[in-house]
Amino acid sequence: MLKSNLDFYAKTLNCGQMGVPFNYLSLEVGGNPRKKKFWEPVLNKLKSRLSVWKGRFLSMAGRVCLIKFVLSAVPLYYLSLFKAPDVVCKSIIGIQRRFLWGWGKFKSSISWISWKELCKSKEEGGLGIRDIRKFNFALMAKWKWRYISNEKGRWKEMLESKYGMELNNGLVPMKYQSWWWRDFMSICREGGGEGWFQKEVGWKIGSGDKIRFWEDVWVGNSKLKTLFPRLFSLSLNQGHKVEEVGGWEGSMWRWTLSWRRARFEWETVMESELGDIISRVVVMKDENDALVWSSEANGCFTVSFAYECLGKTDRGPQIEAFRYLWKAKTFPNVMLTSWRVLLNRIPTRLCLRRRGVLLDTTECALCKTNEKLCQHLFLECKVACSVWSMFFRWIGVLFVKHNDVRVHFESFNLTQGSNKQNLIWKGVWATIVWCLWEQRNEVVFNQGVVDEEEVFQKAQLKSWLWLKHNRVNFNYSLSDWVLNPMVCISSYK
Ligand SMILES: [Zn+2]
Repeated sequence: MLKSNLDFYAKTLNCGQMGVPFNYLSLEVGGNPRKKKFWEPVLNKLKSRLSVWKGRFLSMAGRVCLIKFVLSAVPLYYLSLFKAPDVVCKSIIGIQRRFLWGWGKFKSSISWISWKELCKSKEEGGLGIRDIRKFNFALMAKWKWRYISNEKGRWKEMLESKYGMELNNGLVPMKYQSWWWRDFMSICREGGGEGWFQKEVGWKIGSGDKIRFWEDVWVGNSKLKTLFPRLFSLSLNQGHKVEEVGGWEGSMWRWTLSWRRARFEWETVMESELGDIISRVVVMKDENDALVWSSEANGCFTVSFAYECLGKTDRGPQIEAFRYLWKAKTFPNVMLTSWRVLLNRIPTRLCLRRRGVLLDTTECALCKTNEKLCQHLFLECKVACSVWSMFFRWIGVLFVKHNDVRVHFESFNLTQGSNKQNLIWKGVWATIVWCLWEQRNEVVFNQGVVDEEEVFQKAQLKSWLWLKHNRVNFNYSLSDWVLNPMVCISSYK
């Protein structure tokens, strides 16, 4: 528009003028989301929310919690509208990682567990932190879902008038497509072939008003034209909607497929197979065809399910120990320490040396012998051994000694105990591990004195505190718990 015209209209309408880009709802309208600069407000906000300085006052469990919360709150608006470039994803992960690891007594920032591992689900040994790239894709995919579903909206009409309803049809040449549209399409194509999104979307037949008989997937898992290529080539119904391939006779639906010519005998065999498949379909007079999200029971799209679908390919097996660990009855930070111990990623001297930290000794702080295993402190150590035997004397059970921490934890069950009771014992296990670790740090950093009794009593106290505050009907005093633990939890069946 000419400047003079613009001035004229602005004057007539009595309004001001502005240019792009401008800020609207803290979002830069007209900016280029493929540039890092566009994302700077998000990065700055994340940096201030997840500053290392703040992290120092939180336990690791608290930091994990904050990372999850901040990610799902702060950049949501941006991430649900635009595809974040790789460099931005990397920066966000960098901020999260520094916040999680960049603090503490060692003043180093060793990432003890790779970010990929942390993003795994809890059952696979991770912490279930969302991977920013996949999260971004899942959020963006919501637009595609809204685009192809029955929802109405001005935004949709606009896009439809330019690109049509058939996605991927290449109606508009690449150079005329907007960057947003290109990003949007590329997200749904992720994973090769038709893309992850298409694989998850299926049709639910109504009156047959939208589904194309041969070309859409609506019965079984593949298109009819792929199942019966020969018949497809003979069909006069190519490109037809289901409602055009049959008709109502009173309340009965009859299929009326039309063919280019009479079929040979061997083709009639295929025809009857096709007939079998479609005869099982119930066509409904008064309902529209609808798209459904296949992995959801109610067929509706949710971002968290889309996120799960995106991660399907690199999902690993569930690990027994972690299936129980996160259900164990104890404090979050206690669980988190055990999680690191079970993964063998805890900064004992031997572990630190193996990670290239120069130390003059790998002597165990508690028993003063050389650590042969990274997990020495928790099983092999003389101090740990006597704490564990105090525990078994306390509950009056004999226990086989295991040399592997994970096996020790997994088999830490009382055969006569109920599921709930065993989860309480698993909680106590984690508490003992946590107390051993605390004692070790006390000795290393605060000139503490090694005291097995103290470690064990602390574990008793801490587990009692948990029960007291988290179990409604737990009315036992600490001395009840210390003298008769089996009685105290006998009501948890
Ligand atoms: Zn030791």
